[in-house]
Amino acid sequence: MRLEILGSGGCVTTPRPFCGCPACEQARSNGPEYSRLGPSLFVHGPDLLIDTPEEIIIQLNRSRAGRIGACLYSHWHPDHTAGRRLFEYRTDWVGRPPRHGCTNVIIPRTVASTFESSMSIMDHLKLFVRRGLIDLQIVDDDEEFTVDGYTVRPVRMAVEYVFGYEIHGNDKRVLIVMDELKGWQPSDRVRATRYDVVYLPIGVLDVNPVSGVRLIDADHPMLKGEQTIGETAEVMSQLDAGSFVLSHIEEPDCITLDLASDLSRLLTARIGRPVRLAHDTMLVEA
Ligand SMILES: [Zn+2]
Ligand SMILES: [Zn+2]
Repeated sequence: MRLEILGSGGCVTTPRPFCGCPACEQARSNGPEYSRLGPSLFVHGPDLLIDTPEEIIIQLNRSRAGRIGACLYSHWHPDHTAGRRLFEYRTDWVGRPPRHGCTNVIIPRTVASTFESSMSIMDHLKLFVRRGLIDLQIVDDDEEFTVDGYTVRPVRMAVEYVFGYEIHGNDKRVLIVMDELKGWQPSDRVRATRYDVVYLPIGVLDVNPVSGVRLIDADHPMLKGEQTIGETAEVMSQLDAGSFVLSHIEEPDCITLDLASDLSRLLTARIGRPVRLAHDTMLVEA
């Protein structure tokens, strides 16, 4: 398996329109490795696409992906779903009959029910089903399924409408969590599992762990709902992984590539396993 980071950003992309901070200026002048578009990951092998941010068409066009075996969703938030019009790439108004095929979309039952209640996402997907553009499969929240011989198991986060995915095949096993790690206590089973790669959201940079400088007030209300980088480090210390990749890196945290490599070094030393900060187009071998 090989992970391709299509988008390493979060809710706010880097560069952010009109922003002149060092991270945004680097991204504008130096190209995709310095950019952080919306959160999306492609898993080569089963050819899984996980989440479709607004920029997904640009991200897939610049990727090494050649097909979509199935598309999974972590949760309904707009930064993870707003690019779902991607599925119209199958549209064919020239062929008679149309030559388009279906894209498989597989979601746990709870994700489906929040798609029903949020932003008309399910209405939009049902339109694609009617047009023959997607095949929508709803699985139980803890139901394993297979894609091209790989086993996929949904892993529910503490935020109950959010799911990570454990993917297993060809003697490799990865754990992917796209966002919303806050409050998650890995189950005994997860803690006992050996993963080749674990992919997690980094959390907000409330304190710069390199300099020790506090960047966000300790009593800021945002920290009640948002995971911090220190809390993410605690989760990593509970998991058995060959290496970690941290993503969903928000522009307001202003993590330049220099700071990213400093953070990688520091976290690698603290966790005792390689920890890398993701950037767009990064490839990770499992
Ligand atoms: Zn997000
Ligand atoms: Zn900026």
